Amino acid sequence: MESSGHFGFTATISYVLIWAARHAGIRIEWWDGAIFILGSAFLASIPDIDIRLRRVGVRHRGFTHTVWFALLLAVPAYVILDYLSKEGLQPPLSPLTVSLTLALAVLTHIAADSLNYQRVRPLAPLSSAGIALRLFRSSNALANAGFFLMGAGLIAAYFYGVTDSVRAVQAAAIGSSLIIALATLLDRAQGRGRRR
Ligand SMILES: [Zn+2]
Repeated sequence: MESSGHFGFTATISYVLIWAARHAGIRIEWWDGAIFILGSAFLASIPDIDIRLRRVGVRHRGFTHTVWFALLLAVPAYVILDYLSKEGLQPPLSPLTVSLTLALAVLTHIAADSLNYQRVRPLAPLSSAGIALRLFRSSNALANAGFFLMGAGLIAAYFYGVTDSVRAVQAAAIGSSLIIALATLLDRAQGRGRRR
């Protein structure tokens, strides 16, 4: 997917996760939820930094598209912010919220890319198992615009206080299924000339 699609896809997953956690009785402050949904959506394209690093020999959909990259961002962020708060410096963001936000941004990026043609190998080099569902190309306009609009809508819903509504979650599930189905149809209609 492209950055607009990643933004919306990640916002959608974040919204549903916040709802599910609250539903399971986990207490999430409004502020932490806001950081989680906005932060992960805006950072969702971090793994595609490898496209700019291709010139220096970094392979696209390589290391930055693995769970190790998610850990590489999340663990040091937690350790540093936790250290600062223990030193009494009180960073404005909670260590757990920041590390979960970073991890989710990378993991949902990998999940979204797995819908395309080019394989992602989330556990490489430990395991070469790869996923490519081959539903549509990463440039699919319907998938990118559809997820962007839905994610933006759910962020607005969060900020308007619609965080505990099962209807918003149902709408997200139905919306995601529709977008993926229509994008797959569009891809078939356009033919598979350029596979990415
Ligand atoms: Zn990617």
